[in-house]
Amino acid sequence: MHSLRFRFFAFIAALLLILLVLLNTYPLISSRDAVYEEKRSSMSAAASVVASSLAGLDRLSQDSVAEVLTFLDISGYSRILVTDRSGLVVYDDGGTAGSMTEIEDVLSALQESRTIFRSRLGESAFRSSYALPMSAQGAITGAVYLCEYDQERAEIIYGIQDRIRVLSFVIGTAALLVAGVFVLALMRRLQDLVRSMRVVAGGDYAYRHPIRGQDEISELGTEFNLLTERLETTEKQRRRFVSDASHELKTPLASIRLLSDSIVQNEMDPETVREFASDIGHEAQRLQRTTEELLDLSRMDDGIGFVPEPSDVSRVAQDALVLLRPLAQEHSVHLTQELEEGCVVMGSPDELFKIIFNLTENAIKYNVPEGSVHLTVRGTESTVEIEVADTGIGIPEEDRLNIFDRFYRVDKARSRASGGNGLGLSIVHDAVQAHGGSIAVGQNKPQGSKFIVTLPRASEEETGI
Ligand code: ADP
Repeated sequence: MHSLRFRFFAFIAALLLILLVLLNTYPLISSRDAVYEEKRSSMSAAASVVASSLAGLDRLSQDSVAEVLTFLDISGYSRILVTDRSGLVVYDDGGTAGSMTEIEDVLSALQESRTIFRSRLGESAFRSSYALPMSAQGAITGAVYLCEYDQERAEIIYGIQDRIRVLSFVIGTAALLVAGVFVLALMRRLQDLVRSMRVVAGGDYAYRHPIRGQDEISELGTEFNLLTERLETTEKQRRRFVSDASHELKTPLASIRLLSDSIVQNEMDPETVREFASDIGHEAQRLQRTTEELLDLSRMDDGIGFVPEPSDVSRVAQDALVLLRPLAQEHSVHLTQELEEGCVVMGSPDELFKIIFNLTENAIKYNVPEGSVHLTVRGTESTVEIEVADTGIGIPEEDRLNIFDRFYRVDKARSRASGGNGLGLSIVHDAVQAHGGSIAVGQNKPQGSKFIVTLPRASEEETGI
């Protein structure tokens, strides 16, 4: 965390430093170069004028050159020097006339017949010099040497530099302050988010991270809140599931204990003992069914699926009907069917059996005497539909959303009396989903319920026909 803050800040500071260095150097270098260029051209022009004017003289001497210079009105130079071709100074306002010059640039200009210009920005002035060889009819006759010491320009440039420096300091400090505040604010928000994460990680799933603004960090916070919400829901479901499941197991166990205690503690005739033992058997059966169904659900939760194989839904429905007919008879319910041939899906016959069996069993259990149940399997081009319609007690609209929840029962007393534990439809729902299908529940006209399961039909390639 700290290192991120440091890195962020260091990055901004480095960027700022580069900018300020550029601001402090580039304008100075370019204005200095412009002054050099200007010096070159002005000194070149002046030296050429002097040289061409001196070419007209028969003899170069201190006086004759001074006369020409006065006439030309060449001014502003700190030194003007003229030599003959051997390097003997014939004119020098610096007072070396009559001796050989020792100025390197003049000697080089004479020897190499080329102009030599130098300009340098010193601490307080531009120092520039220009050495120009003079020639007549192709032969070197001497050299003109000009020197200039320009304080004014240097002061302007150094003045600008000072101002830029002050400005850079102000800008730099302000930018660093702003960047610092920005980085700190950003880090504080990230730390807030981390704190919220720790609160949730500590088990407080009801906690929500406060969202401010609409930037990326707020987006992160919103996503985190969504995640927490999902976690909260899952946790609630898990707790409810555990408490429902233990309750579901506790009830038949308590009955078994009560019945067996009665047998042990009381003198009973064999007939009553047999009755009690049969009740114990029923409760044990209920326990067995609940545990089997719980195992089924947890297997599906773990995503332990099945290997899909071409499965004929109508054939599976026939198998289920064989087992359900006695139950229908027991409840005086008319069980009819309409099973289209060739309705094949890619799935597991065992899971399909559970879907059809549970739906039809419910339709019989939650029916009325002399009611009816109609099971239909039909195919469309891309789907296979299983429809179970009954004329039973129906499901109130407000319960329809919840009946696929684990342990949910509309009428607890009736469901328990018929051996139900509220897991059947959850299993159906999960099995339908595992087949990539969907399930819908509605009202059967004029009374009762209607469940419709829609599964993807197997293609010809899949069935291998
Ligand atoms: P149960 O084992 O209690 O039957 P299910 O999960 O199969 O559990 O069903 C959940 C609840 O939905 C049942 O308790 C019952 O109240 C209601 N139910 C399911 N099918 C029907 C139906 N065909 N008609 C009326 N009510 C039904």
